[in-house]
Amino acid sequence: MSIDLEKVTKKYGNRIVLDNISLSVAHGELVVLLGPSGSGKSTLLSSIAGFIKPDSGAIRFNGNDVSGTPPNQRAIGMVFQDQSLWPHMTVEEHLLFVLRAQKIEKNEAKKKAGELLEILELSKFAKQFPSSLSGGEAQRVALGRALIKKPDILLLDEPLGQLDRVLREKMLQLIASLHKKFGTTTLFVTHDYEEAFKLADRIAVIINGQVVQVASPYEVYNHPGSGRVAQLTGEVDLLDGEVCAPRKVKTFLGVMETSNELSGKQIKVCLRPADVEVEETCDGNALIIGSSLSGGHWQLSVRIDSHIVKVLTEKYYPTGVKVNCKPNKPVWVING
Ligand code: ADP
Ligand code: MG
Repeated sequence: MSIDLEKVTKKYGNRIVLDNISLSVAHGELVVLLGPSGSGKSTLLSSIAGFIKPDSGAIRFNGNDVSGTPPNQRAIGMVFQDQSLWPHMTVEEHLLFVLRAQKIEKNEAKKKAGELLEILELSKFAKQFPSSLSGGEAQRVALGRALIKKPDILLLDEPLGQLDRVLREKMLQLIASLHKKFGTTTLFVTHDYEEAFKLADRIAVIINGQVVQVASPYEVYNHPGSGRVAQLTGEVDLLDGEVCAPRKVKTFLGVMETSNELSGKQIKVCLRPADVEVEETCDGNALIIGSSLSGGHWQLSVRIDSHIVKVLTEKYYPTGVKVNCKPNKPVWVING
């Protein structure tokens, strides 16, 4: 089922929380809504689910306006930010309860619940209550409760926020595989760009209640629409630059490519750590002032004149020597 948002606006008092949001999610697509805390992500999901009524604008499923449709008739499965499992129900009862509300016959419901518990690796917890589950298990129950009625639309509000890295990775893989299996139109909310890059067909970036860019993960990372989008989608330094020729911009690191055509224009240049090359030497144009390991590479903070930028080393230098990134060590930073 497709979702179309057209100029959706929501205010609390004078505060505009959703500001004229237009966004389309195609049938079967997985769109990640990426934005900082307080940007309006949960409000938008709750509006789509029907728990919040926008002040103006339209929400359409498969082209049909749903403003008059109550939440329980919207064929939506939702996982809330705080899970909100029912403390007095076992894992299995969480699923059976939803099926009972759908008037599914008892044996059939048992069978369906059993199948989904199997897929979610929850079978052995079927008779346990939420208080006895780990964070990852509880999150899988919340996901199961959203999926059991085979919703047309799945809304996931920061579902992995409470989990450690290993569990988060596992859950991301599970969500991706469930999406492949069921093909449910999905809107996944997060503030974490790594989650967004791992899952999304497309990313919609929301800032201050406005959807400011909608594009593929590759596009959002490599061609962010603004400095703020660049910061939200990965490590970046914003350099002052002046367009010196069509598609060329001059920064303190030298001349770089830009999509900007207008000579003389002052612009901000988004420099990702991997955009420059760094070489170990006994002299150099930069001094290391800090370092951290990042996915097998070293991410260095280096000072060049009065500027500080982040750079990513090759895993090994061509000689095979592992980078030696002590503070105050000189290196060459080259505009790559
Ligand atoms: P996010 O999920 O992106 O963190 P929310 O959608 O929860 O953001 O909230 C967006 C903004 O709207 C926040 O500043 C929040 O304080 C405000 N807000 C949310 N719900 C209400 C409400 N019921 N009354 C007043 N302000 C609210
Ligand atoms: Mg939220």
